[in-house]
Amino acid sequence: MSNRMAIKRCPYCSTNLNIHDTRCASCKRRVGEADKYGIARKPFDWKGYGMCILATIAFVGFMWWAFFRK
Ligand SMILES: [Zn+2]
Repeated sequence: MSNRMAIKRCPYCSTNLNIHDTRCASCKRRVGEADKYGIARKPFDWKGYGMCILATIAFVGFMWWAFFRK
């Protein structure tokens, strides 16, 4: 029970990591705190989030351009 949370698993490649690791030793991606299942959380990715918003805006803009322009 005491070492239940001593390891966590990378959410990307399922490699076992030390509970204190902030980066996966195998795939080099950033990992966060372990959740209750012992799987490391994916840190919030502002860059990816921003790209997602930009892609959405671009898509909506394209749809508007494609279907609603006179
Ligand atoms: Zn990994």
